[in-house]
Amino acid sequence: MTDLQIDNVRPMGGTVGTLHIKDGYVVDTPVPGAAALDGGGALALPAFIDAHMHLDKTLWGLPWRPHSAGKSLSEKIANERNARVELGADTEVQASRLIAQAIKNGTAAIRSHVDVDPDLGLGNVEHLLNVKAAHNDSIDIQLVAFPQTGLVSRPGTADLMEAAIKMGVELIGGIDPEVIDGDADAHIRTIFDIAERTGAGIDIHHHEEDDAGADTLDLILDAVHAYSMQGRVTLSHAFCIGMVSEQRRSTLLDRIAELDVAVITTAPGYKPFPPLNDMQRRGIRAASGSDGVRDVWTPFGNADMLERAMLLAYRSNFRRDDELAFVMEFCSLGGASVMGLDAHGPLLGQRADIVLVDAENIAEAVINRPTSRTLIKNGRVIS
Ligand SMILES: [Zn+2]
Repeated sequence: MTDLQIDNVRPMGGTVGTLHIKDGYVVDTPVPGAAALDGGGALALPAFIDAHMHLDKTLWGLPWRPHSAGKSLSEKIANERNARVELGADTEVQASRLIAQAIKNGTAAIRSHVDVDPDLGLGNVEHLLNVKAAHNDSIDIQLVAFPQTGLVSRPGTADLMEAAIKMGVELIGGIDPEVIDGDADAHIRTIFDIAERTGAGIDIHHHEEDDAGADTLDLILDAVHAYSMQGRVTLSHAFCIGMVSEQRRSTLLDRIAELDVAVITTAPGYKPFPPLNDMQRRGIRAASGSDGVRDVWTPFGNADMLERAMLLAYRSNFRRDDELAFVMEFCSLGGASVMGLDAHGPLLGQRADIVLVDAENIAEAVINRPTSRTLIKNGRVIS
């Protein structure tokens, strides 16, 4: 952390002024000896947070590879393992290049899932822990042990996930307890048991659809209550919330709010998703992320959370300035609340994780997505 003075900036689009940063936090008086930075009249915003990524899957930095995955999950998984060997993908090199891209785009924190299964063992966990340690000063990284190929249907995976937590991974993951594992109760119990034993948080990929998906979601919420895991569980995607009747959606969201469960949505182009306004109205902690970036699952993605904010607005049919400011907040402070980080930004008392963007105001930043950005983390200029 360092002391910094940023002249000629407009915090949150207000009037031009000077930002004073002491010990990594925004203060209201000049700090003697602080380093100086000319903000060039830029808009100062809370740095972006990418709350759902797969750093171990990306091919970032390798030559373009045409999308070749088959339709079924097993085809996609086999395709991934083959393609990574074929291309000579190095998990640490590719993940580090993607992190550099995220930092360039103004991202100060990432939550990444990392595959764990009996074939991979803890190899990817070791790689991402190394990558995390190497980037300690420039970006916060949280890891989730992710049973991509199944949990109870793949004996040995649960033990590996628990071992991953003991190695330093922060959260236990899950995936489609009924559809992938065929035994929602066992899947959910396994995850929550590990969380109870280790003190880890939980972040579950939930792609199950319609009322059947909502049934599984209710089982997860039952477990949050039974294990007293309020405030420590995240649902990633939760498409079913956008697919069920309005009445059932309302009941699910009320339960999610009451149990303080967080929700992450990428506003995907191919599925319904939980309505942002309905979550905001209930005070649900919610955030967004890139999900897979340029990997064998998808050719899309560029680790740009300002572009993600635009996509959230586009898919939500948001047009007003206050709605565009809301999606920007979703991609910054929303991520902090989901990841359990201090509130950050350019306002008094906030942790000085700030991005400078050349735009007139927040709405214009979301629509134009200027590429030239400056990231300040804990009061230090990172990029
Ligand atoms: Zn994912």
